[in-house]
Amino acid sequence: MNTSLFELFKIGIGPSSSHTVGPMRAALRFSRQLESAGLLTRTASVTVELYGSLALTGVGHGTDRAILLGLLGEAPDTVDPATVEAKIATIRSTGSLPLNGTKAIPFTEAANLLFRRNRMYPDPNVISHPNGMRFTALDEADARLAGEVFYSIGGGFIVSEAERTAESDPSTRIVPYPFRSAADLLATAKQHNLTIADLLLANEVALLNDPTNSITRPQPSPVSSKLDSAEDHIRASIITLWRTMQQCTERGIAAEGILPGGLNVRRRAHRLAERLNTIGSKDPLAPIDWVTVYAMAVNEENAAGGKVVTAPTNGAAGVIPAIGNYYLRFIEGTEAEKEEGILRYFLTAAAVGILYKENASISGAEVGCQGEVGVACSMAAGGLVAALNGTNAQVEHAAEIAMEHNLGMTCDPIGGLVQIPCIERNGMGAVKAINACRMAMHETGDHKLSLDQVIATMYQTGLDMQSRYKETSLAGLALNVIEC
Ligand code: SF4
Repeated sequence: MNTSLFELFKIGIGPSSSHTVGPMRAALRFSRQLESAGLLTRTASVTVELYGSLALTGVGHGTDRAILLGLLGEAPDTVDPATVEAKIATIRSTGSLPLNGTKAIPFTEAANLLFRRNRMYPDPNVISHPNGMRFTALDEADARLAGEVFYSIGGGFIVSEAERTAESDPSTRIVPYPFRSAADLLATAKQHNLTIADLLLANEVALLNDPTNSITRPQPSPVSSKLDSAEDHIRASIITLWRTMQQCTERGIAAEGILPGGLNVRRRAHRLAERLNTIGSKDPLAPIDWVTVYAMAVNEENAAGGKVVTAPTNGAAGVIPAIGNYYLRFIEGTEAEKEEGILRYFLTAAAVGILYKENASISGAEVGCQGEVGVACSMAAGGLVAALNGTNAQVEHAAEIAMEHNLGMTCDPIGGLVQIPCIERNGMGAVKAINACRMAMHETGDHKLSLDQVIATMYQTGLDMQSRYKETSLAGLALNVIEC
């Protein structure tokens, strides 16, 4: 396994990792490729075609805006969400787009951004990923200068057609404790007497020390006093991710009003938090309500296009921060113990997420919401066990329980927006993660189903699911609920 924690947890903008972050990265990569190939000055026009789920729910998921921003040269982790509206408005009003921030080309969405709603794949003869995009650059004489097909494969990850074809090639990334399955992970950890968190930390240190890989990590948190070693850097970068999640949660709790998109969905986290503050701690189930508030706050921010951290996707971005906040607020410990607990939480959740990423999918368009909120729930359950100093076997058990009870969960967002059922679903996923953690921690780790079996089942179930239940808004709630 060679995916990094920092590829699963990435800072970006809402509302969707596969439909916003991925397309933005693809457009950015294409515009940079033009520049590095010396073709930017000769480019007179660019056409972008979207297929499958991207074409069917792209407008609601902000794919159109993401493509414009990426072609402009903006990256999801550095773009300032407050500037997005003005940038989009300028392109739309002038009909001109500065490609990669420099070469102005005429660009109107009607002519240059085409939603191929009647086609699932860029090549109709090849069944590939349902989030396909084709970029084509032409010169003044309308001759083709360059072209590239990308797939947004979930969680903000993109692959080009060539990379996808070569997917089975062994990775060149070297880590001290490679693992291909949960069984492998447990066996390797046992052999070296490591916790899962320690094992992943060692792998992350190796990836950081290897200059040949191109993993983007957030700036180490400025309040971290000690940055003497690679391990310190990894820990400080994780704390930066955590702070970004906390800031997102705080913004979501503070904000009120109606979410964009035309569905007239009211933000609820603020009001629920106010109500809980009024009730106080008299209600023994108040911690559960707070978990719901934290998850919904993040996903309301995501739906509003705010800055979020994929965990492992944008649509499922609320579960991991909700459980992190639950741990900080409702589990006793000193500040130092809590910071260590949060680090164990992230590292362990990432190890679980990597298993899904490598052996199944974290894309709602490929396997339904079981691959998004289901995976987030599984990651959070395993991570919480680690934060609470549970055993590796209990981590595996909790992650298994959490996914077992998300199997078959479809993706049917109303109006193609990441709002209903997505926002509430994160609250439900977070609460389920606590339940899974508690069930596992009352056991020894022995159990009938393995995490590997459940991951395989999730993937097979997702592949068997009809496309209309996989981020197309053609069935389920999206079909049976009138948008008004
Ligand atoms: S239903 Fe789930 S998978 Fe689909 S958009 Fe919402 S959060 Fe993502």
